[in-house]
Amino acid sequence: MSYREQYEMVCGVETHVEMATKTKIFCGCSTEFGQGQNTQVCPGCLGLPGTLPVLNREAVNLAIKAGLALNCKIAEFTKFDRKNYFYPDLSKNYQTSQFDRPICENGWLEINVAGEKKRIGITRAHMEEDAGKLVHSGETITTSNSSGVDYNRAGMPLLEIVSEPDMRTVDEVVAYLEGLIQVMEYAGISDCKLEQGSVRFDINVSLRKRGSKEFGTRTETKNLNSFSSVRRCLEYEIERQAELLESGEEVIQETRTWDEGKGVTLSLRSKEDAPDYRYFPEPNLPPILIDKEWVEKIKATMPELPMAKRERLESLGLSEYDAVVLTATKAMGDYFDQALEKFDDAKTLANWMMGDLSALLKTNLCSFADSPVAPQQLATLLTLIQKGNISGKIAKTVLEEIYNTGKNPEIIIKEKGLAQISDECQLEKIVLEVISSNPKSVSDYQAGKKNAIGFLVGQVMKATKGQANPGLVNKLLKERLSKE
Ligand code: ADP
Ligand code: MG
Ligand code: ZN
Repeated sequence: MSYREQYEMVCGVETHVEMATKTKIFCGCSTEFGQGQNTQVCPGCLGLPGTLPVLNREAVNLAIKAGLALNCKIAEFTKFDRKNYFYPDLSKNYQTSQFDRPICENGWLEINVAGEKKRIGITRAHMEEDAGKLVHSGETITTSNSSGVDYNRAGMPLLEIVSEPDMRTVDEVVAYLEGLIQVMEYAGISDCKLEQGSVRFDINVSLRKRGSKEFGTRTETKNLNSFSSVRRCLEYEIERQAELLESGEEVIQETRTWDEGKGVTLSLRSKEDAPDYRYFPEPNLPPILIDKEWVEKIKATMPELPMAKRERLESLGLSEYDAVVLTATKAMGDYFDQALEKFDDAKTLANWMMGDLSALLKTNLCSFADSPVAPQQLATLLTLIQKGNISGKIAKTVLEEIYNTGKNPEIIIKEKGLAQISDECQLEKIVLEVISSNPKSVSDYQAGKKNAIGFLVGQVMKATKGQANPGLVNKLLKERLSKE
């Protein structure tokens, strides 16, 4: 056992999710991404004197919905607090956040790593506003001559979701983050566009000797926004902390930053504690009272969540693996359901979605969200196979045609003359030809080598360019061969 294996990792994650409201959390500015610098600002979110915040009710609705989706208890009484600190991207000198009375507490999210299910505790989820963004003239803050601030992001509604320190392997952490994002996407809390910074992770990690009950000292690495950087960051931190502990040194509790280019974490500052922020209740926003009715109203808008959907798909006879793949994104899950309304063989549908259609989408860098083949078109195509109008092989060609032209399958089949040949007389003729030109296979078959018929079927299929009805060909061949 290598010395690193003597240590167990402990990890808890704080996730910032940008909620999908049209306007900011305390003013009417738009939340649209990618607009010109400082074009979506007002005196309120710029922190100018004399302005007062007005809470966006939709942000509260989404926070309640997220809490319900994560099995949390929704607070009956919740309030905002000021978290005081200075940084140029925070023009008010405090962030309006929630301290001791968060909107959601005590939830969980189930993860599945290599078939092992585990619940990761959700300590709390609270609402807060985002800060602005520093824009440096050079590559980094240290190599720039000047920096500007874009306040478009200031006041965007965030939900900070804090997990319990329940994760023990890198795979568990990634499964938790993927699962969390999936739930947020399904419930419509956020667009979850990681590349646009809609979701950011702070990774808390410590090591302890295996078998030990107490946690070690942790570091917190801030603002990661991809699964791959989380994975690399964790692997680096585990290595770094293990080396420190092994050489008799201590891990310092601190805030670190991830350098994506170099693949290392760097010390940013020593860890600040709650008292450092001098939290106090926000005097300009009244506390929020959330009654049962409000919660029930939100509950009624909750769509089916990934876990329930996977269970439903398995109850249709699909494997766990299929269910996991089909629910990976909401778009794929919705696609499956829409196609299933028109074609009821779940397994066949799953195979086509996960096989041929996924492959087509992948080569064209497309996804189910923008699939050129509509769910109804796929359902029609599969129905045509089921009815024997076309063979599975021809269907692959037709699928590609639908993909490229958007035409409906019946039209493509008609235009290209691809319909399956189920006319006995027509097939009989070809069967006879194949029998007379393959005497070896015929005698093999008649001598008891029953699988020789496969070759003969293949020859008929070839002669008909794959359009013969294979079942019928089989039947006709058998009849003929037993007569001779
Ligand atoms: P703070 O608010 O100061 O960042 P918290 O106690 O709220 O600290 O914890 C923040 C995150 O750190 C949580 O996700 C929690 O699960 C995680 N965490 C706490 N202690 C440890 C530890 N010893 N090792 C790893 N993660 C930890
Ligand atoms: Mg923290
Ligand atoms: Zn504003």
